[in-house]
Amino acid sequence: MNDSKHPGARLEKVSKFYETAAQRVVALEEMSWEVSAGEAVALMGPSGCGKSTVLNLLGGMDRPSGGAVWAGGENVATMTERQLENYRLRRVGFVFQFFNLIPSLSALENLELPMLMAGTGADERRGRAESLLDSVGLKAKGFKRPEELSGGEQQRVAVCLALVNDPPIILADEPTGNLDSANAKIITKILIDLASERGKTVIVASHDPKVVEIFPRVCHMRDGVIERVS
Ligand code: ADP
Ligand code: MG
Repeated sequence: MNDSKHPGARLEKVSKFYETAAQRVVALEEMSWEVSAGEAVALMGPSGCGKSTVLNLLGGMDRPSGGAVWAGGENVATMTERQLENYRLRRVGFVFQFFNLIPSLSALENLELPMLMAGTGADERRGRAESLLDSVGLKAKGFKRPEELSGGEQQRVAVCLALVNDPPIILADEPTGNLDSANAKIITKILIDLASERGKTVIVASHDPKVVEIFPRVCHMRDGVIERVS
């Protein structure tokens, strides 16, 4: 259905069940939700309510048990494995709680790797990586390895990593869960600015009230559905 296409992110009656030998866990129950293109939204809710499941579905890392998952105008739920690989590389950027940088590579090399995989030439790779680091105040630290950087600095590199192939959608799963409150604020502000300054669709899952209060819209989840919006 063409009119279901959504340039931001949209879940249409999305269910996700996890079957184990002993039981069936309902992670999402016919959840419908919409995020406009270029909007920054916080997804808030207690542990186990389904936040990571939503991000993993939008990020093409998992498939729904039912329903449609639209992101950047594409239905992620019906993609082949090969389409999903391409989608994850170019159409979506993910920021995790534990920074996810390769320890043996410098900050610049970490950023260049996904561009290499996307076929970007060497000069452009280095140029883009340097300008991204510059944009988060880390111009001088490009040759440092992750262990030589603070947690806050590593997470800023990780945000740059999510941006290297210029995807329209940025998903962050508890991106400040491992940071002190000063660095949590810095990272949250950077993520929100990606929407207002670069037109990215930004979805941040968090259960930290201090993080979500900065967002223009907060969606509260409970037991696999959106409970209310504030
Ligand atoms: P949140 O990110 O809000 O803490 P999750 O999306 O991780 O919540 O989990 C939602 C529910 O799905 C929880 O009950 C969780 O235990 C369950 N769940 C998540 N992943 C799996 C899995 N791989 N196998 C079984 N159950 C899972
Ligand atoms: Mg989670």
